[in-house]
Amino acid sequence: MAAHASPWVGEVIQRLAQAGCSVVSSADEPKVCASCGRTMSWRKKWAKNWDEVRYCSDACRRRKIRPVDTALETAIVGLLGHRAQGATICPSEAAKNVDPEGWRALMKPARSAANRLVDAGQVVIVQRGQVVDSATAKGPIRIRRA
Ligand SMILES: [Zn+2]
Repeated sequence: MAAHASPWVGEVIQRLAQAGCSVVSSADEPKVCASCGRTMSWRKKWAKNWDEVRYCSDACRRRKIRPVDTALETAIVGLLGHRAQGATICPSEAAKNVDPEGWRALMKPARSAANRLVDAGQVVIVQRGQVVDSATAKGPIRIRRA
């Protein structure tokens, strides 16, 4: 889910541009970590290579996307495809689908897979029937087709 900049941000940028200031527009674009799917907010240390930044943390850079992560995405989409529109699944169902015995170790990766699918516009994260921001949602989540 892309966080949209408030309208005044655009206005400020426009005024700066009119005043002859250069504005790095790419820094205003929200980015999503290629591994955990969380929205990354711009940091000063990324100023030089913001366009190349793909991961939010060293842990995510080390993990990247493994075959099991792709399998979890496929499982989420597959499970939801067999349910009625509007039905939800728990990330654990996708984890169990991928590894019936070692599914507990896949709970965090399953949530990350769901986050990436949110970014891809395929699913939404739901808590108590309400769509929530996957990056800030605390506690158990459910996944629904977008
Ligand atoms: Zn990350």
